[in-house]
Amino acid sequence: MIRERLSEIKAALPAGVQLVAVSKFHPVEALMEAYDAGQRIFGENRPQEFAAKVPQMPSDVQWHFIGHLQTNKLKLVLPYASLVQSVDSLHLLEAIQAWGRANDKVIPVLLELHLGAEETKGGLTEAEIRQILASEWPFVDIRGLMGMATNTDDESVVRSDFERISALFRSLRNDYPFLTELSIGMSDDWPLAVQCGATMVRIGSSIFGPRQY
Ligand SMILES: *Cc1c(COP(=O)(O)O)cnc(C)c1O
Repeated sequence: MIRERLSEIKAALPAGVQLVAVSKFHPVEALMEAYDAGQRIFGENRPQEFAAKVPQMPSDVQWHFIGHLQTNKLKLVLPYASLVQSVDSLHLLEAIQAWGRANDKVIPVLLELHLGAEETKGGLTEAEIRQILASEWPFVDIRGLMGMATNTDDESVVRSDFERISALFRSLRNDYPFLTELSIGMSDDWPLAVQCGATMVRIGSSIFGPRQY
């Protein structure tokens, strides 16, 4: 089942758009099924679960962290993450920078834009993102933007969220050409995200089925 769902999604994704298989709440057996079908990039959103799964999977897996990261949990995530997609505050970025300096490691990250209508959703404002990019971050490799659209069935709202982040991404890229990644799109909205310029989609339930809570 996982193999079939994966290959359907991969067939529909344009070349050059990376697929992050969001495996949170699913057991390692399910991840291995995706791995055996060729999937190498996995996304997790909880530090404990992330750190527990890493040693149970083959070493050529690329792990993306996509959830809220508290600064006291950095050591569970930063040694293993090939990309931290969810830098949602200046405070977190500063802590990652300090960890990178202390461990002599440059950490690849995306900056998470506060995108959806939900106030509860985290993320940086556009002004904060511009302020971050205007500074030097020797131990952080800022590769692009991540965002989550408003959780709604109204496609026009989702599209306008994606268009907003995509416009910001293109505008920032003029000044900062090292920004190459736009991570938008999940199970319900990834085709729209691809239309709006996604370079990376994060898909969970459409691959692994509903999450078990
Ligand atoms: C869970 C999650 C996803 C995947 O959600 P699905 O709807 O299961 O595809 C994508 N991005 C983030 C940040 C998530 O937390």
